Amino acid sequence: MERERNCTYSVVVPVFNEEEVIEQTYRRLTAVMDTTKESYELLFVNDGSRDSTVEKLLRIRQKDYNVKLIDFSRNFGHQVAISAGMDYAKGKAVIVIDADLQDPPELMLNMIEKWKAGYDVVYAKRTARKGETFFKKQTASLFYRTLRRMTDIEIPVDTGDFRLLDRKVCDELKGIQEKNRFVRGLVSWVGFRQTAIEYGRDERAAGKTKYPLKKMIKLSVDGLTSFSYKPLKLASYGGMALSVVGFVYMLAVLFQTFCTKTTVPGWSSLVVIQLLFSGFVLMILGMMGEYIGRIYDETKDRPLYIVKETYGLSAHEMTGPR
Ligand code: UDP
Ligand code: MG
Repeated sequence: MERERNCTYSVVVPVFNEEEVIEQTYRRLTAVMDTTKESYELLFVNDGSRDSTVEKLLRIRQKDYNVKLIDFSRNFGHQVAISAGMDYAKGKAVIVIDADLQDPPELMLNMIEKWKAGYDVVYAKRTARKGETFFKKQTASLFYRTLRRMTDIEIPVDTGDFRLLDRKVCDELKGIQEKNRFVRGLVSWVGFRQTAIEYGRDERAAGKTKYPLKKMIKLSVDGLTSFSYKPLKLASYGGMALSVVGFVYMLAVLFQTFCTKTTVPGWSSLVVIQLLFSGFVLMILGMMGEYIGRIYDETKDRPLYIVKETYGLSAHEMTGPR
């Protein structure tokens, strides 16, 4: 118990249906963390897995009490799982890492080095991504660059959630109550001394991606809307531009009608304009809907997640608000 309180590192691992890889992940994480010769906890957050992930983790825990588990009542999503891990983590430094070994655990040692040198956030920037589809790489790249252009805060490109946070950064993040969260943006937002290390991302060690297109779209829309109003502004600028075009066209039509008298029944132009404008109006409505939906989520003020059971932790031990 005493040792727990003095825990130096918390490694937070969100897991969702990772039965193929979880044991291997545990072994690699332990091997790396043991070399630090300091105390640590491996805090797995089970995000509603429907396979044997939990059973496997509990079996591991019988032999190794550094392993702790937060078991969600259902799938709440990767970003929420990370947040829960941060809520329960006790370490002086908190490292977030994916369960699929795409982020090489050995890099945690480099992060720790930087942390000891005085940095509060050390994030890992991907210079290459192995074993991922062309589509995923391209859309991810496009997303990070769009996000950078649209936001006022500096969110590093090509950076996932693999990072080390100092205790004080983690505490600040716990105070943020946002529901549709984009954790890496929030980490940038809180500030402090941040630095990057670069790495080539490996292939998944086993199993398939748990991020289907639908979850990727949700993550990117969350990222864009929670850190930028620009989509809304884009709508009004676009609307203005189209109105100007419409006005000019109206003048042309009036000129034709009164001066040249060459107006034809004009069915096609009407249809074209109709399509163009209604498409545009719908787009603006959709954009507003995204924001209004988020306002609605915040006002409902539901908890971010529901914990079914914890192992090696207890609810009153949760080290912060929320
Ligand atoms: N994950 C999660 N909840 C989800 C989806 C994914 O906790 O709803 C976890 C997953 O187990 C993994 C990490 O988030 O540890 C990243 O997922 P994945 O490797 O499938 O994403 P990708 O690397 O393909 O983008
Ligand atoms: Mg992965």
